[in-house]
Amino acid sequence: MITNAMTVDVEDWFQVSAFETHIDRDRWESLPCRVEANVERILALFDETGVRATFFTLGWVAERFPELIRRIVAQGHELASHGWSHVRVTQQQPESFREDVSRTKALLEDLGGTEVVGYRAASYSIGKGNLWAWEVLAEVGYRYSSSVVPVRHDLYGMPDAPRFAFPAVEERLLEVPVTTFPVGGRNVNFGGGGWFRLFPYALTRAVFRRVNRKEGRPCIFYFHPWEIDPGQPRVEGVGPRTRFRHYLNLGRTEKRLRRLLGDFQWDRMDRIFLQEAA
Ligand SMILES: [Zn+2]
Repeated sequence: MITNAMTVDVEDWFQVSAFETHIDRDRWESLPCRVEANVERILALFDETGVRATFFTLGWVAERFPELIRRIVAQGHELASHGWSHVRVTQQQPESFREDVSRTKALLEDLGGTEVVGYRAASYSIGKGNLWAWEVLAEVGYRYSSSVVPVRHDLYGMPDAPRFAFPAVEERLLEVPVTTFPVGGRNVNFGGGGWFRLFPYALTRAVFRRVNRKEGRPCIFYFHPWEIDPGQPRVEGVGPRTRFRHYLNLGRTEKRLRRLLGDFQWDRMDRIFLQEAA
């Protein structure tokens, strides 16, 4: 049986890229944080189901909730980096990016007391225009990135990227794209987030089985703490597409997630993709 990678992008409801133009970063400090309670629920769920996962965590969140970081590590999960404050790589220059990913790695390692080798870009924002990012990640000591979705999409995507893990910087950095599946000649994102909430669960399950059994590959699944939180404050004035993507089926996610956790075998990214960590 193939072991798949379970991942969580640890950020709060007001930090998602789709709300960038609606919620100014200056307001973050004054908004009610729900990330700590939501991650606690996820930790309890993983504990109950015996699943170990990778938590790609924002430096911003870690700085405010150091105890939460220690609990993630204490419960046997992999602590990894989601950058400092969810600025997409497409909006950064190599120097500011280096500063961002180094600072986040150092804080997480300090709080967690463990080495941090994994990175996921905000909104999967590594692509054709900024491949220098991989070199920077390797230089500051990351060993894998999971920052690419090989699809065509309005907000992210690198349609020509391989669907499965590939060396991004020879022998130093592996890129592990989230799970996609070709439908009618185009890759569709089945890796999680809004797509997991949109598609019927049976479809996700069928795709994951095919990837495991026919292609012989692990799947990479991701979700966010706010996706299991139907009680989060509603952001006013957002367009219909963003509203749909963010709020669809929030009340059903946890139940669906439980089925997914039970139907497949899961582990941390590092144990699946970095051989020495096995
Ligand atoms: Zn994110």
